[in-house]
Amino acid sequence: MAETKRFYRKRQRLVALVSKIKLWPSRNGILHGIKSLDHTPAGLRVTTHCGLVFTARDSSKSRAARWLRAKQYTSPCPSCQIPAWKLEKYGSTVFSKRRGAVLPSLPLNVAPDDGEKIKS
Ligand SMILES: [Zn+2]
Repeated sequence: MAETKRFYRKRQRLVALVSKIKLWPSRNGILHGIKSLDHTPAGLRVTTHCGLVFTARDSSKSRAARWLRAKQYTSPCPSCQIPAWKLEKYGSTVFSKRRGAVLPSLPLNVAPDDGEKIKS
């Protein structure tokens, strides 16, 4: 099994990270799948596949951004049904200070990934 490593720059806005990775580490250690993202005056509005809606500050230093880079989570959310390939892809992603892509801060209103089944 060849594992392709992806490199992303460490210091990026939260929105750039989550719109690419589409995963959200919650405060209690559960990793959620992101269904949609919107910019609101209050910040970044995140909707997860399991129906959580909340607003996060779009910063590179926020808790979520740090936890996402550190891959700090205990288990994936059972309701979000994050596909295994996505967790593997996330697991092989490296956040580096010196190399890797700088992700665009746009676009927003991201569509779910191809191949991802949405249960309603
Ligand atoms: Zn969830």
